[in-house]
Amino acid sequence: SWSYLKIVDVPFFKADSDQITSADVRVVMGKSHLAPSFTLTNSPQVMCNSCRADTATMWFDVLDSQLGATTKCLINTSFQFGPSLCFIWAACSYSGIPLCQHCWRWGHSTRACHSQAPRCPRCASPHTEAGHRQHASCCRGNPSAKPPQDPTPEGAPCPHAARCVNCKGDHSASDRRCPFWRHRFDRAWLAEKSAPSSLHEGLQEISQKTAQEECKGRRMLNHRH
Ligand SMILES: [Zn+2]
Ligand SMILES: [Zn+2]
Ligand SMILES: [Zn+2]
Ligand SMILES: [Zn+2]
Repeated sequence: SWSYLKIVDVPFFKADSDQITSADVRVVMGKSHLAPSFTLTNSPQVMCNSCRADTATMWFDVLDSQLGATTKCLINTSFQFGPSLCFIWAACSYSGIPLCQHCWRWGHSTRACHSQAPRCPRCASPHTEAGHRQHASCCRGNPSAKPPQDPTPEGAPCPHAARCVNCKGDHSASDRRCPFWRHRFDRAWLAEKSAPSSLHEGLQEISQKTAQEECKGRRMLNHRH
């Protein structure tokens, strides 16, 4: 699993008065005695605390055990940035670009969502995650199928493969294993990965419709002849 950490009060300007970058953070981390005890899963992200502040917060993710052993060993230790000793804190996993928990798309918050219906993070169908067992085609059962399909028992988790609405992987869109989570600070990556696929789906839908219309039109012409 991943753990989300941040380094606080890092000087935003280096000795040469350049702004600190992700690469500088990697160098500092690499030189630290803590280096052998953790593995980064993404590039550290630098965010200036405010437009006038001279300190920044660095966000970074590390590989961790289920029990969070790496996190336990890193929290409250520090990295040396120039003359400053900067401490590591636990970070909220929701820092970065927001993930909407209504439609499960990245880039807007749940409150700002324009979707009418909620979307299920497990199967991308128009129901909530709580309603999945009752409404999802995989879980609601089908007594008239051959052989008849039993519904998933109440209270039991869906035993079927999930399909992430964002990466199409076999996990829920809320799953931290989704590559989108690892890139949640990377606006360019998210834009590139989300826009073309939804655009592609949109285009596919249009071309399917056009094909259907054409087919209908041809049939009508054939009838007339
Ligand atoms: Zn949304
Ligand atoms: Zn569902
Ligand atoms: Zn299911
Ligand atoms: Zn995914």
